[in-house]
Amino acid sequence: MFEELLPTRAEFRKLAQKQAEFKKVLQVSHLPRIADVVYQGEGEVAIDLSFAFNEKYQVQVAGTISGQTTLICQRCLQPMPLTIDTEVKVIITTLEQADQIDRQFDPFISDGDVIDLNALVQEELLLAIPFVSYHDKSECQVSLSSNQQNALPDEVSNESKKNPFHVLSSLKKSNEE
Ligand SMILES: [Zn+2]
Repeated sequence: MFEELLPTRAEFRKLAQKQAEFKKVLQVSHLPRIADVVYQGEGEVAIDLSFAFNEKYQVQVAGTISGQTTLICQRCLQPMPLTIDTEVKVIITTLEQADQIDRQFDPFISDGDVIDLNALVQEELLLAIPFVSYHDKSECQVSLSSNQQNALPDEVSNESKKNPFHVLSSLKKSNEE
């Protein structure tokens, strides 16, 4: 039997002090924000996350999230597999200081002493899952004339796939608690 969730009230400074590491396999069906955006809430992800203090005494969460889920192809509307393999580089910060952290890290907002580690994982997953996705042309159910192919959007770069609202959504999340 797999354990279902990560700590929902993780005392992140204590975890950084202990250099705690979390390794776990999570079912997407237990991650509501992800289950909402993937096909039938399918899939599972393996997380490996370590806490530490950086030189500025900020709590840093680093590691990987990898796994499989299913999205809907926006061209043929059939399911398509998605492999997730994302590097996590997060600094836990307050809203006031969120824009001051090193740009290679994602901010995760906490105004108290605890974070919901599941919320952090979901936020990082939302950044890793593309907004729109298409099968490779050779695998797609819709065959296209060359004219239509020219009208298709170009491959979206990783950067523009990033969700600019993730800070806001984490605020929303913490307000709900
Ligand atoms: Zn398709």
